[in-house]
Amino acid sequence: MGERRIKAALREATDTQHVNIGAGALASVPGVFRESFGDSPAVVVADGNTFEAAGKEVRRRLERAGHTMVEAYVFPAEPPLYAEYSNIEKLKGSLREHDAIPVAVGSGTLNDIVKRSAHECERPYMCVATAASMDGYTAFGASIEKDGLKQTLSCSAPRAVVADLEVLKHASEDMTASGYADLLGKVTSGADWLIADALEVEKINPVGWSLVQDHLRGWTDSPAELRAGDQGSIERLMEGLILSGLGMQSYQSSRTASGAEHQFSHLWEMEGLGHGESHEGTPLSHGFKVGVGTVAIAALYELVLERDLGDLDIESLCDSWPTKEALERSVREQHTSPDLERGAVEQTLAKYISAGELAQRLELLRDVWPGLREKVRVQLMPAEQIRGMLQAAGCPTGPVEIGLRWEDFEATYSRARTIRKRYTVLDLAFDTGILEECVGELFAPDGFWGRVAASHTRADGTRLVGSIRSDVREKHDDR
Ligand SMILES: [Zn+2]
Repeated sequence: MGERRIKAALREATDTQHVNIGAGALASVPGVFRESFGDSPAVVVADGNTFEAAGKEVRRRLERAGHTMVEAYVFPAEPPLYAEYSNIEKLKGSLREHDAIPVAVGSGTLNDIVKRSAHECERPYMCVATAASMDGYTAFGASIEKDGLKQTLSCSAPRAVVADLEVLKHASEDMTASGYADLLGKVTSGADWLIADALEVEKINPVGWSLVQDHLRGWTDSPAELRAGDQGSIERLMEGLILSGLGMQSYQSSRTASGAEHQFSHLWEMEGLGHGESHEGTPLSHGFKVGVGTVAIAALYELVLERDLGDLDIESLCDSWPTKEALERSVREQHTSPDLERGAVEQTLAKYISAGELAQRLELLRDVWPGLREKVRVQLMPAEQIRGMLQAAGCPTGPVEIGLRWEDFEATYSRARTIRKRYTVLDLAFDTGILEECVGELFAPDGFWGRVAASHTRADGTRLVGSIRSDVREKHDDR
């Protein structure tokens, strides 16, 4: 079943020609390599951990099959590899000494480093996945920190990907849980695209949509089994992550797989949340941040959908619409890092519309709202359900678990909108003048986050009630 879907997806992909997911799939590496690159020499690129987990075995199998091998390039296991540009420069220096095809053996960070390095050396590459931890394997572009900013640097996706379920099964629990959260985030990112489509901001591309959305429910319906190491659940997760990447590849944009929940994650990432701390000394994963963002956006959606956006006072909304200059000032006030501030101003102004254009957009919204509301409802799940699924998979589901202060979490609802020009539910709520009011409701004592905060029990046994912000601030300062 999965194989057929992947075959069909590969027909839509521009760079990736082979994907093999299965138990014992490492055995297929030499054959896949030959089909993809003929008799070219190969070089395994890994880090100390992934070299042990699969890199050695990949090298051995390639050697035995008669491929010419260049000595493996292995990044140290400690400290954990970080996706920063200096690592690309190191690897590039080594790749330029020969003409071997890189075989990346690793997960997100390693794959991104090899992807961009190979691209800069004008060489294709292949990837052997070691964890079902995110959907970037088959995506174009690499997420790299350069000049103090996390950026997506353009580069081709791998020509081939092999994922051995036996290897994925032995990845850390947190990595598999991270992949689950990244995939579950497509529930809200899909809703965002429905909105952008209905408001004629960005039309839905049927192929890109189908690859990510058609089987999303099936890929994500067994979080507890996944956590327990069930092979079928890992296989479905990996299939989802690979198809999600192929969706981005086919549409040449991450719109297919990334919405407001990713903007939450990216903002936190750029501000260094969880670097070098958290779980077992490894940085807080992309998926874990996306997971918390997904709960946050699903909760916002519930409040947005309760309202009748077909019955707005368009005239008064246009009267109070900020000028470009006022908007720029407000964006600058919300950011403290100069790089982030510059990027946010650029992205926000790129999606700025005049009051006249706002009137047109809101009139369109009035016409499409009943149908759009229904479509979005079908696409979404209740925030509480998403929270339960993430919990069952072993993911964090709220700010405290990822080391974020409640007040910073609350501010993310407004700040995340500014860092990307992509139109999401945050923009819909902003355009219709309800963003602030909805966020207020979410954090009120009986609101979604107010209730979550109240359920956290303090170390001394008393419960957090009333003003969650001051309570949690106090808790944080205690550490
Ligand atoms: Zn993601």
